[in-house]
Amino acid sequence: MSLLSVQGLTVRYGPLEAVREVSFSLREGEALTLIGPNGAGKTSVLRGLLGLAQAEGKVFLDGEEVRGRSPEALLSRGLVLVPEGRALFPGLSVEDNLLLGGFTRFRRRENLRPDLERVYTLFPRLLERRRQPAGTLSGGEQQMLAIGRALMARPRLLLLDEPSLGLAPLMVQEIYRILGELKAQGTTLLLVEQNAKVALALADRGLVLEAGEVVLEGPAEALRQDPRVVEAYLGLS
Ligand code: ATP
Repeated sequence: MSLLSVQGLTVRYGPLEAVREVSFSLREGEALTLIGPNGAGKTSVLRGLLGLAQAEGKVFLDGEEVRGRSPEALLSRGLVLVPEGRALFPGLSVEDNLLLGGFTRFRRRENLRPDLERVYTLFPRLLERRRQPAGTLSGGEQQMLAIGRALMARPRLLLLDEPSLGLAPLMVQEIYRILGELKAQGTTLLLVEQNAKVALALADRGLVLEAGEVVLEGPAEALRQDPRVVEAYLGLS
């Protein structure tokens, strides 16, 4: 059975149809990427399926229809979003930002120790900077913190919105190395990216979204070699 299945998702902002009849599913442990140009509706797919934007269609989690449930209810069922722009608390320390990510499960700091240690093992840089205000971190470190905070909620499915956005190439590599590690540990990933190259290298399957609709889909390897994807998204690099 699929962990997540989305059927005929349509997202509207007033008269604007940002996403039209998008369908896909994800098995446990799988990584799926949604690629496409700016404004194609990728973020809106995430927002629509999480109930953060007005949507129509069906969303099944473990075979149970969940669309219409509150974002908090979905969070407690293991759907955890790492939003674009990261949405950290800049005045709070790195560690307090991480702890906030775990407070959906535990209110007491001591209970979150093992999770905190797991995050610090994945991101030693966050351990070094744990007492520093989040707002003083570099862009890449803030992305690490946003992922670390999401991990504190023990996601079954981690939804990431453009984790490479605005980062230097080396930092993009570092973030993707860690996403690869999470995938190897069994975390299911739904990855929205404009950087098709890195996303298709990590993912098992991909969907190409243009103007709110799926125009291509398939195994990531096949998409990487598809002339339409190469021309529009991979360039000559
Ligand atoms: P980006 O890479 O720029 O984030 P995207 O593929 O994620 O692009 P969306 O952010 O989902 O695209 O936007 C899809 C369309 O919906 C765009 O035309 C955008 O202007 C519009 N849109 C997004 N959010 C809103 C909103 N809150 N109100 C009105 N229109 C919106």
